[in-house]
Amino acid sequence: MKALRLHGPKTLRLDDVEEPQIEPDEVLIRVEYAGVCGSDLHVYRGAMRNRVKYPAIPGHEFSGVVARVGSRVTWLSEGDRVVVNSVVPCGRCVTCAAGRPNICTNFKILGVDLPGAFAEYVKIRGDRVYRIPEGLSLREAALAEPFSVALHACRRANIEIGDTVVVIGQGPIGLCVTQAAKHYGAEKVIALEILGNRLELSKRVGADFAINPREVDPVKAVRELTNGIGADKVIEASGAPGGSRPSAGHA
Ligand SMILES: [Zn+2]
Ligand SMILES: [Zn+2]
Repeated sequence: MKALRLHGPKTLRLDDVEEPQIEPDEVLIRVEYAGVCGSDLHVYRGAMRNRVKYPAIPGHEFSGVVARVGSRVTWLSEGDRVVVNSVVPCGRCVTCAAGRPNICTNFKILGVDLPGAFAEYVKIRGDRVYRIPEGLSLREAALAEPFSVALHACRRANIEIGDTVVVIGQGPIGLCVTQAAKHYGAEKVIALEILGNRLELSKRVGADFAINPREVDPVKAVRELTNGIGADKVIEASGAPGGSRPSAGHA
C-alpha cells in the first residue's frame, strides 16, 4: 500500500509499504479522509523526535471503512463506516484498572507511537473504533476527533441554554467550539480571533459576533455586547499565552 512516511524531521516521502497485519483484537480500516492536526505538524517538524520511531506514518484524524476484522472483534463488520479514538490505553495500569483509561500512564497515540492514517490502510484495536450514523458523510466524519475536543470543552464548561460564551481563538478547534457552543444552546457566541479569514469563517459557522482583539479592546467589546455584565462562559482555544491571560476579564 501507499503510505506517507516521515524519515526524519521535515522529511516526508510517499512509500510503498506492507499492509498492516491485524491481531485478533484489531481491525484494519481503509482510510477515506484524513485531516492534518497541529500535532502532526509538531511531529513533522521533529518536536517528538525522541518518541517517534522513523520511518513513521503520521495522522490520527480520519474516517474510513472497515476492511478486515479480528476474530475477537464481534461488534464490527467489513464495510462499516467508522472513526476512531486515536488514543490507545494499555488496559493494565492502575488508572486503566480504576476505569480511567483517559489518563492511562502507558497510552499510545496513533500517528505518534503507532503507524497512523496517512496511508491507504491503518490498523487499530477494535475497542477504539466507532461506527458513524447514516446521515454523516465520511468527509464530515474525518473531523470527529477535533470536534470531540470541542464537545468535551463545552460539556466541561457546562454551557447552558441562553448563555453568552466567549471563544478565544478561531483555529480549527476554536471553530469547532463555536459550533458546539451553539449546539449546546448558547444564545450569543462571541468569537475572538486575530486572523481575518478565520474571523470570517467563525461567522459562517455560527458566531454571533466576531471580534479582532488587535483592532478593538476585547474586554471592553464583550462588556458592551453583554450590557456590562460580561460573558457566562469563556473557552480558551487559541493555545497562545496571550489568549488565556485576558480570559478572566471577559467573564
Ligand atoms: Zn488531533
Ligand atoms: Zn493504562
